[in-house]
Amino acid sequence: MTEVITGYDIVVIGGGINGAGIARDAALRGLRVLLLEKNDFGSGTSSWSSRLIHGGLRYLEFGEIPLVFESLHERRRLRLVAAHLVTKLRLNLPIYKNARRGKLIIRLGMFAYDLLSFGKKVPRHRMLSKDELLQEEPGLNAEGLLGGAQYYDAQVSFAERLVLENIIGAKEAGADVRNYSPVIGISVRQGTVRGLQFIDRASGSEVEVSAGLVINAAGPWVDRVLATVNREMPRFMGGTKGSHIIVGHFDGAPRSAFYVEARADSRPFFIIPWNDQYLIGTTDIRYEGDPGDVVASDAEIAYLLHETNRVFPAANLGMDDIHYAYAGVRPLPRREKGPESAITRKHIIRQHKKQARGLVSVIGGKLTTYRNLAEQVVDMAVKILAVKATECQTRSLPLPGATVSAATKERMSAAGDLSTECLKRLLGIYGARAAGIAALALGDPGMAKKIDSAGLVIAAEVVFAQRYEMAVSLIDIVHRRMMTGLMPDQGVSMNDEIAALAAAEAGWDSKEKERQLAALRDYNERLRPKPDF
Ligand SMILES: Cc1cc2nc3c(=O)[nH]c(=O)nc-3n(C[C@H](O)[C@H](O)[C@H](O)COP(=O)(O)OP(=O)(O)OC[C@H]3O[C@@H](n4cnc5c(N)ncnc54)[C@H](O)[C@@H]3O)c2cc1C
Repeated sequence: MTEVITGYDIVVIGGGINGAGIARDAALRGLRVLLLEKNDFGSGTSSWSSRLIHGGLRYLEFGEIPLVFESLHERRRLRLVAAHLVTKLRLNLPIYKNARRGKLIIRLGMFAYDLLSFGKKVPRHRMLSKDELLQEEPGLNAEGLLGGAQYYDAQVSFAERLVLENIIGAKEAGADVRNYSPVIGISVRQGTVRGLQFIDRASGSEVEVSAGLVINAAGPWVDRVLATVNREMPRFMGGTKGSHIIVGHFDGAPRSAFYVEARADSRPFFIIPWNDQYLIGTTDIRYEGDPGDVVASDAEIAYLLHETNRVFPAANLGMDDIHYAYAGVRPLPRREKGPESAITRKHIIRQHKKQARGLVSVIGGKLTTYRNLAEQVVDMAVKILAVKATECQTRSLPLPGATVSAATKERMSAAGDLSTECLKRLLGIYGARAAGIAALALGDPGMAKKIDSAGLVIAAEVVFAQRYEMAVSLIDIVHRRMMTGLMPDQGVSMNDEIAALAAAEAGWDSKEKERQLAALRDYNERLRPKPDF
């Protein structure tokens, strides 16, 4: 017989940045929340972005002034509530002869951007002459260069952890958060949602949840979730695919990030110093397939390599220089016509009043604006449920790891022989939560052991990920908890030891350990472009 669970005010489908943000906000307001994620938290689009917390200078071209204003406002908030993960980023925007965007347009854009970020603690833009720009960035192509603009935005190096901290924050506030729990059906009777069905991770069996309010925050899978409703639902999504390549330091590489107009199609793309490497992207191509199958194509990789080599001629980057590449699908509203870049990046919160009262879908939404989106969704939820709830707290309440105090640093230092670089890495990934790793290391010398040749990664991180951060698989541990999977060599030299530690903690036998390692190898392989390119 199907197990039936009850007692939730709101069920959130999807553990990406938006679902995680909604769950945290709702739980903090006293609502009883269940969040269901079919894979691991943050494993969807939220892991495959340009990792910028930005106003979106480009959106000004399309007159999306309110979106830019909202984004800049949220950028300031995230710099406070997620201080350990969101850092300031300096960008250069070079201006070339015959480019689509000339000096005047760039100057106006910069002026508007500054104006919209009024009151935010970020330096204003400055216009640079050709010589000034080349002095700062001597590797930049000087041919046809007229000058440039320099401005500031922010970066979230590990967006995976921003998602996770929202999940942990939701859990701490009382939410029931479950990964590897796919929703397989939504029941509507007499035009109203009555509940949904999902597969329970532990038992592998179907569970029925009765729920009056369901939030579909499945990102690019929103239509696929709607297809599980037991009645005909309209389609909303029209995702576009975007790819990035990740390379190491190259000849003439810039010190700051660059935002450059591509010669091939005049689209602006980023070259961003990131995680001791360079993150280069993105593309924008309509995509109809399963968002889970998306990979960077040869043509996209060639485009990104070619355009980067043009802007930094000494780079001479080729296929062999790519550490890995990734692609994601932007969860955008369906627009059949017009260029991809013109599709609005504004989010839409859609109540399905006609077909399924109590079902709400989130269409769109950027990493940058997730907190505000969540606040709006929960405001709506409170109205629909007609319940009394406390005020939204996420505007100023720091995420679980955000407040790194002197005491945190002391506890870290007491945890054994950890170098300054190791401490910096741990605090940069886990923030104040690194104290929990220190506590594990302090209690067991084996846990303080360094597992990489540079002495930056410690054994306790593996156990911490499993015990306190809901990691289930080896892929979860290295790609979305410890972040070693995003190192230049994808952290492969550590994986056997990480697997051994994880196996001991989770009780995997040798067959299961090998299965986990093989799955990780496949996952890494998928991110590596093939050499026959
Ligand atoms: C190339 C690219 C670059 C970008 N760059 C930026 C940027 O620099 N800055 C920025 O702010 N934004 C950026 N974005 C946008 C941003 O990344 C996304 O809009 C955002 O991450 C979407 O989050 P989400 O939670 O809605 O979706 P997702 O992260 O995809 O989460 C949805 C989740 O739902 C789960 N799910 C699906 N079906 C089910 C089911 N049946 N049951 C349970 N769970 C289910 C999925 O597994 C997934 O984890 C970029 C996007 C792309 C693609």
